[in-house]
Amino acid sequence: MTTHIAPPEAGPYNKNEEEEKKIILREYRALLRALKERLKRGDKAMLRRAFEMAADAHKDMRRKSGEPYIMHPLAVARIAVEEIGLGVTSAICALLHDTVEDTEISLEDVEREFSKSIAKIIDGLTKISNVVDLKADTTVQAENFRKILLTLADDPRVILIKLADRLHNMRTLESMSRDKQLKISSETTYIYSPLAHRLGFYEIKSEMEDLALKYTQPEIFTEITQGLSETKRERTRYINEFIKPIKEELSGNGFEFEIYGRPKAINSIWNKMRKKHVTFDEVYDLFAIRIIVKSTPEREKEDCWKVYSIVTNFYRPSPERLRDWISVPKGNGYEALHTTVMGPGGRWLEVQIRTERMNEIAEKGLAAHWKYKEGVPTAQENKLDSFLKHLREILNNPDTDTIDFIQDFKLDLFTEEIYIYTPKGDMRVLPKGATALDFAFDIHTELGRHCIGAKVNHRLVALSHQLVSGDQVEVITSSKQNPSEDWLSFLITAKAKSRVKSYLKEDKRKIAEDGKDALKRKLDHLKVNPSQYNLNELMHYFKKPSPLDLYYAIAVGNIDLKELKNFVVHGDKLQPAVKEIKHDIKHAAAEEDHPKHKNSKAPELIIFGERSDKILYKLAQCCQPIPGDDVFGFVTSGEGLKIHRTDCPNAAQLLANYGHRIVKTKWAKNKEISFLAGVRIIGMDDVGVIQKITNVISGELRLNMRSLSIDSKDGIFEGTIMVYVHDREELNKFCNKLGALEGIQKIERLESSETPS
Ligand code: MN
Repeated sequence: MTTHIAPPEAGPYNKNEEEEKKIILREYRALLRALKERLKRGDKAMLRRAFEMAADAHKDMRRKSGEPYIMHPLAVARIAVEEIGLGVTSAICALLHDTVEDTEISLEDVEREFSKSIAKIIDGLTKISNVVDLKADTTVQAENFRKILLTLADDPRVILIKLADRLHNMRTLESMSRDKQLKISSETTYIYSPLAHRLGFYEIKSEMEDLALKYTQPEIFTEITQGLSETKRERTRYINEFIKPIKEELSGNGFEFEIYGRPKAINSIWNKMRKKHVTFDEVYDLFAIRIIVKSTPEREKEDCWKVYSIVTNFYRPSPERLRDWISVPKGNGYEALHTTVMGPGGRWLEVQIRTERMNEIAEKGLAAHWKYKEGVPTAQENKLDSFLKHLREILNNPDTDTIDFIQDFKLDLFTEEIYIYTPKGDMRVLPKGATALDFAFDIHTELGRHCIGAKVNHRLVALSHQLVSGDQVEVITSSKQNPSEDWLSFLITAKAKSRVKSYLKEDKRKIAEDGKDALKRKLDHLKVNPSQYNLNELMHYFKKPSPLDLYYAIAVGNIDLKELKNFVVHGDKLQPAVKEIKHDIKHAAAEEDHPKHKNSKAPELIIFGERSDKILYKLAQCCQPIPGDDVFGFVTSGEGLKIHRTDCPNAAQLLANYGHRIVKTKWAKNKEISFLAGVRIIGMDDVGVIQKITNVISGELRLNMRSLSIDSKDGIFEGTIMVYVHDREELNKFCNKLGALEGIQKIERLESSETPS
């Protein structure tokens, strides 16, 4: 990407040309070594040509770190081969992946030099890279994401190389600017890590998420990594104690195996801390035990259960935590036996049992499937095929609303699966939470469309009935039935939702025609065209997700076209008047006022961009930032600039989808204005507790308190305090003081959604 380029003098690299050449060649030879067994006659020459072509095309370019640019394609090729398990063709494509985008080389050159299929993959990669277009609108971004998925359905190698590319960019994010780090990290957690997960690349998924956490929330990342290294000794001792008897018994039974304790990903530890409101010290399952046995295709199921039986001879299993993904593998191909057992000292511990083949699939996902194609039962291949088929089906449906679809599809990516049976005993895999109606749509669109109910295990249930694994479901239909709006409130699969939406859309479309005409007349009057750009602006402003919704709302009178006076016309472009603050700060400052923030009368608190322009802003309600927090500004369409914390629950989605609306922001030093912040405290109930807390607030620290509420039950109290502080430092001081009080067990900052008001 062009964004990586910096002038040659930048960075710490000042090696002479000879030395650089040596490093590049060393990297290239490492790639050859990684491919070794897969190199057939003629491959080496072709690889060499790709390497030389790329090296020559990028020869005057450098990465932000100062390295020669060619180091990037080389690293991507190595990741593709070593970590994803791809072959020679993919390595060639990885070497060339940035040439068509960034250099003089054209697709035709690639096709002439190599082959049509290689050119096609490069074309796919070039198209995907436009997703990172900072100026693109949401609809464009969504359309690009759809393209990614289409290429995935077309030739999965495109997306696999793209994952390698993204992983390398994440590994080398250090030298990028702060806003690029945020943008790229958010995009990674929003799009790429769920995809890696869906395709079964657990290692890559975890690494991407950990790196994203490192850049979006550095303090938390450091806290957890430090915590992990401080507790390492104790952990190793515990793991050794746990595995000792198992090891002996497995050897005694003639198994060839590997057994070890594996720390959980930093991001998943963080998720647990956040979800359960616990500190690092309170997360007890920081690791899982993994046992990998050598086995043969015929014996592997039996062997895994034998290992299970040995483990549970020593440690009591929790019956509800047994997961058999051997008899029924996960949708992404994952196979293993998971159990949770009670280890020494009464600690619950997850044990994962796999064969070597299953382990490779767990690490290399889709690619390993190809490798084992011959040895694998056909049912599994079918599952991957049906995933790709399903994807293709939806994406090729012209009625699919892309943004909606992506939201739904992403939900599909994340959820756990349940297994449902037809009356004939055929099994279907559905996401957890799926309803009888989702099941009907999964079988066939027409069945879903006319579904009036279902029999679950021979008992009559409503359309919205949620299924659980093992249910047998018979769909009941009527030709008179047709989809209705309320179906969308309980359907959860992307396929069913998109089908229902397109049925509903038909009606809506007819009505919307009137709205479209009305809008066109109004725009004619203003002498602007209903261009995509203008439509996007109107959609943002009126908060409508699509042009159809916009037209429909106009047609039924939910939108008053008089509101167009809130736009200004620049050439052929409509712009919300509020954007003007960027160009004419004083003017805007005079007109706007901040009724919601009585305390922030002086707007010169924050410095934007490189220059220290002072602009009006509002603090986002969803995360209530205070000075000292890591923040960014977001240009909204109706309400000016909003300041969010980078760890705001909405941040990833905003940064990934609206990159062009992000404004770099930091706090100016100012001690005159205070901000509302909330903390939650938990502690032992004690008569004097409120007294002690208020002493800290108004006595010692002289803070202004807005509210204090305390609930107490069974000797434990939980309280919420809202105080005005000047900055994060003061808030931290406040928390530390409270923490030092006797009986206080925990203090944490509130997200505002929990704020009592
Ligand atoms: Mn690249």
